[in-house]
Amino acid sequence: MKHFDAIIIGTGQAGPSLAARFAGAGKTVAIIERHKFGGTCVNTGCIPTKTMVASAYAVHVARRGVEYGFAANSDVRVDMKRVKARKDEVSGRSNRGVEDWLRGLKNCTVLEGHARFQSPTTVALTMKFLRPTKSSSTLAGAPRFRRCLGSMMFHFSRTLR
Ligand SMILES: Cc1cc2nc3c(=O)[nH]c(=O)nc-3n(C[C@H](O)[C@H](O)[C@H](O)COP(=O)(O)OP(=O)(O)OC[C@H]3O[C@@H](n4cnc5c(N)ncnc54)[C@H](O)[C@@H]3O)c2cc1C
Repeated sequence: MKHFDAIIIGTGQAGPSLAARFAGAGKTVAIIERHKFGGTCVNTGCIPTKTMVASAYAVHVARRGVEYGFAANSDVRVDMKRVKARKDEVSGRSNRGVEDWLRGLKNCTVLEGHARFQSPTTVALTMKFLRPTKSSSTLAGAPRFRRCLGSMMFHFSRTLR
């Protein structure tokens, strides 16, 4: 069973900074994420909503151009596909930023999967991964995979100084 000084579950608001502090202090740390790097704020919360609010505000101001001393040449129309693409781009950049930052930290191991406590100092990790099917036949030239589950156990120190 692999041992770390600390195991952090989740890459939301606190996890990555905590991992960086432990790693920077020379502690071995594992950080586990089961879904998207950056958690709620980056992927479905603060960042995506604020980019969409920014688009709405820009439209609002553009429609009141006369009041602000300029004239728009045509009706200001909303293109929701472009609004969403911008939102996806901004939040995708943060999501990749968090992942790249964590993967680049010395002493930090990034693990993907669902973490569960097995004991007060043991964490079990269930991972989803793709395994090639036994037959090497391909469908339209593409290799075939099936989804598999695997699990690993990790142990961490009870006290950190
Ligand atoms: C629409 C919306 C708008 C918001 N706007 C704002 C705002 O403007 N300002 C503000 O301050 N807050 C805002 N929030 C709230 C903010 O997003 C949350 O408070 C914050 O993201 C919580 O951070 P967290 O790290 O506690 O949890 P999360 O960000 O949810 O992170 C938890 C992470 O842990 C992972 N995880 C959980 N359990 C496991 C497990 N067993 N194994 C492996 N991984 C696991 C999850 O996949 C997730 O990535 C908003 C929320 C929403 C929904």
